[in-house]
Amino acid sequence: MKILVPVKRVIDYNVKPRVKSDGSGVDLANVKMSMNPFDEISIEEAIRLKEAGKAEEVIAVSVGPQKAQENLRTALAMGADRAILVVTDEEVEPLAVAKILAKIVAEESPKLVICGKQAIDDDSNQTGQMLAALLGWGQGTFANEVAIEGDEITVKREIDGGLQTVKLNLPAVVTTDLRLNEPRYASLPNIMKAKKKPMDEKTPADYGVDISPRLATITVTEPPVRQAGEKVEDVDALVAKLKAVGAI
Ligand code: AMP
Repeated sequence: MKILVPVKRVIDYNVKPRVKSDGSGVDLANVKMSMNPFDEISIEEAIRLKEAGKAEEVIAVSVGPQKAQENLRTALAMGADRAILVVTDEEVEPLAVAKILAKIVAEESPKLVICGKQAIDDDSNQTGQMLAALLGWGQGTFANEVAIEGDEITVKREIDGGLQTVKLNLPAVVTTDLRLNEPRYASLPNIMKAKKKPMDEKTPADYGVDISPRLATITVTEPPVRQAGEKVEDVDALVAKLKAVGAI
């Protein structure tokens, strides 16, 4: 079976985002961009399933600018077999990404799509769920552990205060949570090999998907600057201060 893994190019998680002076969004000029961390976890899981003999091919797909091919190359260097880049310089909302992915699913017939639980730039946490709805497939979101047996996949899901186990019929959509695995680093020989792996280039129009935005961003603001703390002499002083501000 084939596994499709959507991979988003996002602002690197180590970068402190700066808001544009007009409040229209985050300034991405000269900022380090990387593969969305949850998508690294998805690629790792797909490769592990292939190594365990549960899948034959892992296809990485990204919807984004031409430069997203760098992130797809990383996916290929980790072990994905081939990649599809759907090129657009527009900002693409989760619904449009889900519609494009649904078309790719129709063409490629994977039995499993492994998305990240959320992209760390917009924190939408929507694409996998929307894709499952468009396809009429089951979904196992926030996966902490997955196991494929025959035509079924068991997904342990991270939920508030514990884990929930669900069993889905394949084909299905899974979204990955942080503790599912620790993604491997791509070795130098594999980075070299990845340069020769196939990467198709498409556009949203090739799939007949209208990506015009359904949402308007009104304003983006920096979080308030944290106030400095204060050292107190002893517990009595702490209690007095807390009482004074009405905290106890
Ligand atoms: P979101 O719904 O935006 O939080 O994203 C959840 C997941 O959907 C990501 O971790 C990716 O697996 C996938 N995804 C979202 N946007 C894109 C994109 N532009 N290209 C490829 N995959 C995407």
